[in-house]
Amino acid sequence: MKTTVIETYSPRETYALGRKLGQEGTPGQIYTLTGDLGVGKTVFTQGFAAGLGVEGPVNSPTFTILQIYEGGRLPFYHFDVYRIADVEEMEEIGYEDCFYGEGVCLIEWADLIEEILPGNCRRIIMEKDLEKGFDYRRITIEV
Ligand code: ADP
Ligand code: MG
Repeated sequence: MKTTVIETYSPRETYALGRKLGQEGTPGQIYTLTGDLGVGKTVFTQGFAAGLGVEGPVNSPTFTILQIYEGGRLPFYHFDVYRIADVEEMEEIGYEDCFYGEGVCLIEWADLIEEILPGNCRRIIMEKDLEKGFDYRRITIEV
């Protein structure tokens, strides 16, 4: 496994990183996003969606767990599992069709559903470091 660390200094740079990975997205990929509230998971996701060619606004589907976007180059499955109480809720929404389908999945707060994550997920970890500035983010990508 290879790990790449990318440092960004603005939301725009994080968006651009997401867009680049979205442009490279292939069917069946699952990206997991971990990091504290406000670290930039949704900003990254918005870039990723743009990279896949999804038009229109992409917001955090915090109250719905899953938002599906069909308008891009590939289906885009955006999960935000922050408010999940039990992984059974993932079964209720039919997550397997997304995880094992032809689109790309991106899961915010993926550590909360660790037990159902396939082994081939690409992990993205986002961290702040206030000593390096308010807008600094360290983004570790496992590929
Ligand atoms: P999360 O989804 O992780 O809770 P959001 O993406 O919703 O976080 O919010 C991130 C916030 O941090 C936004 O207000 C964004 O403008 C701000 N921000 C500041 N610097 C950065 C950066 N380098 N990358 C991403 N977001 C940043
Ligand atoms: Mg979010």
